[in-house]
Amino acid sequence: MLRTFLLYLSERETPKKLLTRHSWGRRLAQRFIAGEELADALGVVRQLNQDGFEVTLDYLGEAVHEPAAAEEACRAYIEILDHLAQDGLRSHISVKPTQLGLAIDESLTVRLLRSVCERAWLHHTFVRIDMESSAYVDATLRVFRALEAPRDSLGVVIQSYLYRSEKDVDELLKEGAYIRLVKGAYKEPPDVAFPRKKDVDRSFQKLMETMLASGLYHAMATHDERLIGLAIEYARAHKLGPERFEFQMLYGIRRRLQRDLLKQGWRVRVYVPFGRQWYAYFMRRLAERPANLFFLMRNFFRQ
Ligand SMILES: Cc1cc2nc3c(=O)[nH]c(=O)nc-3n(C[C@H](O)[C@H](O)[C@H](O)COP(=O)(O)OP(=O)(O)OC[C@H]3O[C@@H](n4cnc5c(N)ncnc54)[C@H](O)[C@@H]3O)c2cc1C
Repeated sequence: MLRTFLLYLSERETPKKLLTRHSWGRRLAQRFIAGEELADALGVVRQLNQDGFEVTLDYLGEAVHEPAAAEEACRAYIEILDHLAQDGLRSHISVKPTQLGLAIDESLTVRLLRSVCERAWLHHTFVRIDMESSAYVDATLRVFRALEAPRDSLGVVIQSYLYRSEKDVDELLKEGAYIRLVKGAYKEPPDVAFPRKKDVDRSFQKLMETMLASGLYHAMATHDERLIGLAIEYARAHKLGPERFEFQMLYGIRRRLQRDLLKQGWRVRVYVPFGRQWYAYFMRRLAERPANLFFLMRNFFRQ
């Protein structure tokens, strides 16, 4: 119930204004967000790299409805890629297709993402196209395919809560795509997504094993210790070393687990979001674990 309500609020303007206009809102969000400015994010990336983590940087923003805003996001990503390269930081980028205009015009997204990818190729780095709500999955996969990018420079995301994902994974593997597997963070109806967590987890495990068996380089993006344990078990049984796949986790979540995996010799990439458009991202993090809400409020009032 609370999850559904928080996801509903994540798309509403009034609570967004309330939270983002006040410094206390920013203080609450800082547990999950690296800051509002690029300089804040670069500092976090530097520290994570020093600690042994790889990073993927997300310039927050989504559901853009003006072409000018999509163009602005494209320029921002190009600037980010230049800064990462100049500073010698080990970080990919993660891009939301609706931030590059997918809700306006698919060809605009292809054009803008192509510009971002060209700059990423120049710097020998990697672009991940995040996956948003189910309404955008077909269009996102079309954009990914239209770019015809080398597989080690552009990848996609598959969500285990969608019924269609098994078929999508099979097709993407045939095309040699590098995939990030996640459970899925949006509010989806039961005719497109498994309503029960148990089924989402079972689907994750199945897709994960298919992906690990493919011989391609994929990312297992979860904080679920049981599924991470199963990935490690599978990797050991099939002699897959840390160079064959990576774990990914979100900034500020299960930090001890992130460090433990690193200590065990696995490759861990932290997804670091930054920017002023943090509201929807922050609300999805609360929805994943509504206990966060009480935890954050308690800490907030203690400060
Ligand atoms: C690197 C990365 C990239 C992602 N990209 C996408 C994407 O492109 N599209 C998309 O739909 N989703 C994306 N997600 C979000 C994902 O779909 C899940 O919503 C999110 O990862 C929570 O699911 P879980 O796998 O951690 O499992 P869960 O079963 O939800 O959680 C397992 C455990 O992790 C901890 N945990 C999980 N979430 C939180 C939280 N918010 N706060 C505190 N503890 C928590 C809890 O201890 C929980 O018991 C991404 C996630 C990661 C890690």
